[in-house]
Amino acid sequence: MNFQSADRKLTPIAEALPELLASLPRTVETEEVPLRVAVGRILGTDVLAGIDVPPYANSAMDGYAVRAAEFSKERVFPVSQRIAAGELGDALNSGSVARIFTGAPLPLGADAVVMQENVEPSSEGVRILQSVQPSENVRAAGEDIKTGQLLFKQGRRLYPQDIGVLASVGLSQIAVRRRLRVALLVTGNELTLPGTPLGPGKIYNSNNFTLHALLSNLCAEVIETEVVEDDYEATRSVLMRAAEEADAIVSTGGVSVGEEDHVKAAVDSLGGLDLWKLAIKPGKPFASGKVCGKQFFGLPGNPVSAFVTFVLLVRPALLSMQGTSRVFPGWLDVPVGFAIDRSGERQEYLRVCLQEDGDGNAFLERFDNQSSGVGVSLSFADGLAVVPPHTAVSVGDKLKFLPFSELV
Ligand code: AMP
Ligand code: MG
Repeated sequence: MNFQSADRKLTPIAEALPELLASLPRTVETEEVPLRVAVGRILGTDVLAGIDVPPYANSAMDGYAVRAAEFSKERVFPVSQRIAAGELGDALNSGSVARIFTGAPLPLGADAVVMQENVEPSSEGVRILQSVQPSENVRAAGEDIKTGQLLFKQGRRLYPQDIGVLASVGLSQIAVRRRLRVALLVTGNELTLPGTPLGPGKIYNSNNFTLHALLSNLCAEVIETEVVEDDYEATRSVLMRAAEEADAIVSTGGVSVGEEDHVKAAVDSLGGLDLWKLAIKPGKPFASGKVCGKQFFGLPGNPVSAFVTFVLLVRPALLSMQGTSRVFPGWLDVPVGFAIDRSGERQEYLRVCLQEDGDGNAFLERFDNQSSGVGVSLSFADGLAVVPPHTAVSVGDKLKFLPFSELV
């Protein structure tokens, strides 16, 4: 397919994304990292549990360990021992109970725990006020995790709770895919570094900061380059240097069709574009291809377009390059509180915020100014609502909602 012909129609994202993902190189190298710094990293191997969790049957309550079969409301049971968490009791004498605390191992012979609220203590012992079933208030050994169980498959992106699960089976280190090295290129003669005075005709370089933060959230190693002038040779030389060091290159700006846009031509000369111009709004001038054999993503310069194309295309691509099992964001169908006469030929991604109506039902509110230059629309929003092409939307209709928690 020739993506570069000028008259080519815009590519729908549903076509572009699978094509992009299929063309990506995979990094399979792994490294061992301490659990403390493993969150967000991609597991490099399957992980099997080496022990049962909990390792032994233990009490789920503060109370009394008993033999359930001995229960009788009439009896007063002497308290033969006291077992706190971290201690090991003796076998339970028949006809007695053991004082026990949450997490303490159940003594041999006991099969249930009566919570302390259900006994009447006296100087001779305790009277049990309610009938007792075997296993009541007991956490069985291996109830959470069994020895040999497959905990996680390779390719899983580790959540904070996964780190806890790995720790619960005693691991302190874990094999994860190595970080991707991503070169971040920012183009535009108008750009000024925040923290320095703004000259006439200049704006602050905000995309660099957004994209750096997005890449950091993906645990990428970001290779910064200087701001690239709007010049063909300068663009080519920075791209070539970036390709030497990085696994992937992300650029912003200069990818449209103006005389000052040199990224497309420079990439063409160093490898070539596979994709250019998508049927999405914002984000039409997104480009992807290869620069000296390395994966290249060219994002538009408008801050909202840069963000949207990153989260919809670059993020899945970078996750996929690391063999991540879950590449696509989760979404929900949510009713909207606004109407659209008829959307255009491009699929739209609206900046929306989740609200609650008087009955406690969720609905989506749209930021007034959906222009691709209005960066604050992204900070107002909780996510993106997807409006398919040529679609009329009425208040109460449901749209696909992609929460930012799934995108950044
Ligand atoms: P371009 O894609 O280079 O034509 O840029 C489109 C618009 O985005 C222009 O108004 C640029 O000034 C703006 N823009 C480009 N790069 C950045 C950046 N790094 N930070 C903020 N705005 C930018
Ligand atoms: Mg520009």
